[in-house]
Parts: sequence; C-alpha cells; structure tokens
Amino acid sequence: MTSTIEPRLYRAAPGELAGRLIAITGAGSGIGRAVALACATHGAEVVLLGRTVAKLERVYDEIVAAGGAEPVIAPLDLEKATAKEFDAIAAGIGTRYGRLDGLLHNAGLLGDLSPIEHYDVPLWTRVMHVNVTAAFALTQVMLPLLRAAPDASVLFTSSGVGRRGRAYWGAYAVSKFAIEGLVQVLADELSGTTSVRVNAINPGGTRTAMRRAAYPAEMPEAVPPPEAITAAYLCLLGPGGRGTTGATVDAQAPAAARGTVS
Ligand code: NAP
Repeated sequence: MTSTIEPRLYRAAPGELAGRLIAITGAGSGIGRAVALACATHGAEVVLLGRTVAKLERVYDEIVAAGGAEPVIAPLDLEKATAKEFDAIAAGIGTRYGRLDGLLHNAGLLGDLSPIEHYDVPLWTRVMHVNVTAAFALTQVMLPLLRAAPDASVLFTSSGVGRRGRAYWGAYAVSKFAIEGLVQVLADELSGTTSVRVNAINPGGTRTAMRRAAYPAEMPEAVPPPEAITAAYLCLLGPGGRGTTGATVDAQAPAAARGTVS
C-alpha cells in the first residue's frame, strides 16, 4: 500500500520525531551518520549501530553538540556478529526502552566491481551476509520491540542496481534485489496484523566513501552530500510515512534527471 506523499520532497516539522527511538546501522559515516543527525535534530533518540566505535563516538558528540538527545552507542559488526550479539542488542534496547519505533538498515558492503565469471566466491558470501542476512537477522530480533511501538517503521536500503541489474555490480546488485524482495515479503506478512510498516529506500548517487570506491573518476560535486538527501528518510521513519508499506522509495529525483548514474 502506498500513500500519496512524495518522501523526497517531505519537510519534517521541528520536533516531528520527538518520542521516537530510532536505530540506525552504519551510523558512523556517510548516509547513516547524516540520517542519525537529522533524526536527532528532529527530536528522535537514536541508537547508533556500527562496527567502528570511534566513528560512532564522533557522531554521538555531534548530536549532543547540536542539542539532540543523548544517543546510545551499540557496537555491532554485521559480518562477524553471532546470534548472541544480535540478541544482546535487542535485549539491551528492550530492557531500557521496551520498544523500538524505527529501524534503518543502512550499513552496506560494496564488494568488488567485477564480472560474475570472475567474482570471488568468499567475497560474494561476505557481501550477501552484511547486506542481506545480517539485516534480516537484526530485523528478526527487533520485531517484538517494533510490534510494541505504536507506529514502527523498518526501512531497508536498496540501490538503483537492486531494481535493474547492471554489468559488473555482482554481489552488491544481487544483494539489493534480495532486499527489495525481503521488503515485499515482510511488509505483506506484517500488514493487516500489525502497525509495523516496511519499506525500501534508494538513496541515489550520494557523496560517500562507498560512492568514491564505485566511481573513482567522478568529481565529488557531481552527486549531493548525504545531508542533502535526508528528507525521505525523515518522512518514512516518522509520522509522515504512516500508511506507506511495501514501497520502494527514491531519496532523490531519478538519476537520469540529474545527469548522473546511481
Ligand atoms: P559508506 O559511507 O561506505 O557507509 C557504509 C556504512 O556501512 C559505514 O558506516 C560502514 O561502517 C558500515 N558497514 C560496512 N560493513 C559493516 C559491517 N560489517 N558491520 C557494520 N557496519 C558496516 O557508504 P554509504 O554510501 O553511506 O552507504 C549507505 C547505504 O546506502 C548502503 O547500504 C549503500 O549500499 C547504500 N547506497 C549508497 C549509494 C551512494 O551513492 N552512496 C547509492 C545507493 C545505495 P564503517 O564506517 O565502520 O566501515
């Protein structure tokens, strides 16, 4: 079900996310950092999940310096975490808050850009694990907390190459196709019986370390910085996204309209 809102043009009101607890993976850099800051600026309490604690601490400091509520730092390496560690994160949030209002699966691994014929099998497994299996596993342990919230939102991160395959994007593209499928299955399972909504967001080409790795020859200014694409995230994670589930949403105007490739 999709509402008529246009998330990328959404303007969240000040304090619109107040009272919401939002967990974000890969919150230490790039898009995750920008969305964490934007959520906190709009009143949310954020749980910063990531594998590099020093980066999470920097984001913590930025949020507090900007006047946001004190975040929670939750170290989690999605590639190496055991089931026990996933459970411990959920238990920690459950004990302290008893619910979770938003879960943004943002962390991602690019892997190699190489032909399928030569794609390294162990690397393929790592990319699929971080981008798909770990996001599934984290969602699974968080579902009781999401159900306990009055209006929870789960947002998975897709990509242009997760909607239309492109040569040499290998495991990354396939993992994003899997994410689009996971969103459809989970949204269908939860709609009607819970208020938990589940959507996918494609950030579009954005100035981050991953973008630099994928397009080393591109001028950084060719694509917007993460801070410029947060509107759709605020919409879907907050009350603006009510009524939208099972959708796949763009955070930016289509790449063709901007003259870039996403
Ligand atoms: P980024 O700056 O490279 O950020 C990726 C994040 O994922 C980092 O915070 C990284 O943590 C985290 N991460 C990677 N492996 C992890 C692991 N094993 N455990 C926990 N965290 C891990 O890239 P980004 O561009 O912001 O990417 C964010 C999302 O947007 C990704 O899902 C990506 O596929 C998607 N996306 C990006 C673009 C774009 O143009 N930038 C376009 C389409 C989709 P560390 O900092 O500790 O390494």
